Amino acid sequence: MPLIPYIAHTVIINTSVLAGEEFNLLEEAHLVVEDGMIREVNEGYEAGGIDLQDYLAIPGLINGHTHVGDSFAKEAALGLSVDDAVGKNGLKWQLYKESRRESRVKAIRDSLEYMLLSGVTCFADFREFGWEGIEELEEALDDVPLKAVILGRDLPIEDVDGLGLNLHQVDQIPENREGRIIALHAGEDCEEVPKALGYDPDVIVHCTHATDEDLEEIARKRISVIVCPRANAALGVGFPRVDDMLDLGINVCIGTDNVMTNSPNMWREMEFLSKACRLPPAKALMMSTLNAAKAFRLDSGCIKEGCRADIVFLDKNAINLRDSRNPLATIVYRCEPENVRKVLIDGRFVVDGG
Ligand SMILES: [Zn+2]
Repeated sequence: MPLIPYIAHTVIINTSVLAGEEFNLLEEAHLVVEDGMIREVNEGYEAGGIDLQDYLAIPGLINGHTHVGDSFAKEAALGLSVDDAVGKNGLKWQLYKESRRESRVKAIRDSLEYMLLSGVTCFADFREFGWEGIEELEEALDDVPLKAVILGRDLPIEDVDGLGLNLHQVDQIPENREGRIIALHAGEDCEEVPKALGYDPDVIVHCTHATDEDLEEIARKRISVIVCPRANAALGVGFPRVDDMLDLGINVCIGTDNVMTNSPNMWREMEFLSKACRLPPAKALMMSTLNAAKAFRLDSGCIKEGCRADIVFLDKNAINLRDSRNPLATIVYRCEPENVRKVLIDGRFVVDGG
């Protein structure tokens, strides 16, 4: 993707904004971005600046769980169980053996570009295959200016943002975590969550099957949970207890999981989750922004002073979005990737559609 020149100081005027941690809708606001950070967000007209009158600015989405490495084999596991698809001896590993590096990197690049163009500014990826896997991801990232939290395996923890492991790989967790993130897949099957809790992870991915006691322990230990409801549905493993998690104050985030099974489209994930468990759309958006920023220790996820300028501008007058009585609900339920017109990452316009 061609990079748009970086401007250290940008003033955006006349735009609508979902501002602050409560997503307050400012109808006519201005934003000042300096050195990659949001310096000001306020209601009212300012003279001089980039006029974005037809747009609604929202925090950049953070996809809390992906396996972009599997992008080369979309729908290969259709109808299979978790074990047969991605288990220890699942189809996934056979497909990797038969694939070429070049086609894997190209497919990863496609997924990164798709995420960026649909409003994702950062994603947390479980990257398999040690250094070889990391290099494939980094090669794709060279061409797509998306932020990544890379959770590797089979390599020293200090070389990555953290480890992303299955339960049979927990022996890789070092005594000294070096301030990195430990994320574990657990809970697509019963009995997995208590095992995961024994290792004090920072993040549990899925948590689809969890008892009251499990959830209470997760809340007590301040572990973040990434739910992947569409992937769970595709693999027929149930639905996470999101309501109960939120009631207990657990930091819940949303991920799209394996690209082999599921598109990395956060809009679809938010709509599915919100409607399936009658969750207020604002909560789904919060799980995809601020909560994910907390889970992965990022200074983004919110449009407020002092936050990183990772901002997505939607065409608020698009035919599928206009005439809304509740703009926030409308975007969570109806937004499509093509409604994303501009994306700012670290204060730089990396997508600049008209
Ligand atoms: Zn996963």
